Amino acid sequence: MIDLHTHTDESDGTTSPGDLVQEALQAGLEALAITDHDTFAGYDEAAPLAREAGLELLCGIELSTDFHGRTVHLLAYWPEESAGAAFRSWLDDVIAARFERNRLQVARLRELGVNLSLEDAQAYNPRMTGRPHFARALVAKGYAGSIDQAFRLYLGESAPGYVPRRTPPISEAIRTIVANGGIPSLAHPIRLGQRNAGEEKRWVDELVGNGLRAIEAYHSDHSPADIERFSRYAKQFHLLTTGGSDFHGENKPDIQLGVGRGNLHIPRELLDHLRHAS
Ligand code: AMP
Ligand code: FE
Ligand code: FE
Ligand code: ZN
Repeated sequence: MIDLHTHTDESDGTTSPGDLVQEALQAGLEALAITDHDTFAGYDEAAPLAREAGLELLCGIELSTDFHGRTVHLLAYWPEESAGAAFRSWLDDVIAARFERNRLQVARLRELGVNLSLEDAQAYNPRMTGRPHFARALVAKGYAGSIDQAFRLYLGESAPGYVPRRTPPISEAIRTIVANGGIPSLAHPIRLGQRNAGEEKRWVDELVGNGLRAIEAYHSDHSPADIERFSRYAKQFHLLTTGGSDFHGENKPDIQLGVGRGNLHIPRELLDHLRHAS
């Protein structure tokens, strides 16, 4: 059993990197990739612990990118060694845009009569502060009854408090990942076709033209038919396939490491192919 899509509390998960290594071993995983949003901090902390504990750990990341004006998540993997300094410095720009958005987010919430400071959100994660942390602060201060409600009332894309964040074009992200020895994989492609199923394949085709190398065929939100369809695209477009649960700890309590909602099974050979390709 392997899991190539997980989050620690260095982004919007709730499990520390060290605990994630232990939980992965307890769950019987042979290999794990940490793919936090916009940061390698969780991977960097877990790497020596995984080596000591005998768990195969891959360096990964999940980026939010712009594709035709919509946000599309892109995974990247460095199967052999951790991502280098050049890619990490490209990330600094992404992180700067996040801070910029967070400052505007506070101002926008204030306009809506919500009295929340940047520190209130940063208390949950000072380095990678995002909307999930704003949501927790809104709940803690009584402005929303749940995380879900915080997104519905304030933070979600169709809510009045929504503040978009500057994200790199997906073509730039793909190019930068490849130029720095990584393998870009389209995350949970089921979301690509959610608004227009007919366009799904054409969009994958376009991303392949941009240099995409892999597609996440296996994911907790994919039905068996989805897995089959995305595996077929992989064959047609000569892409690698990746797979993971998208584990977020208590922030997505129905998703378990390795098995997702219980029926996910990610073939070990995906990882072997990924290693061969890098
Ligand atoms: P950010 O990158 O700071 O804009 O935050 C995006 C993250 O917020 C996503 O990766 C999700 O984990 C989370 N998120 C977005 N929309 C929702 C929602 N409606 N309910 C719960 N979490 C959400
Ligand atoms: Fe997330
Ligand atoms: Fe995602
Ligand atoms: Zn994810």
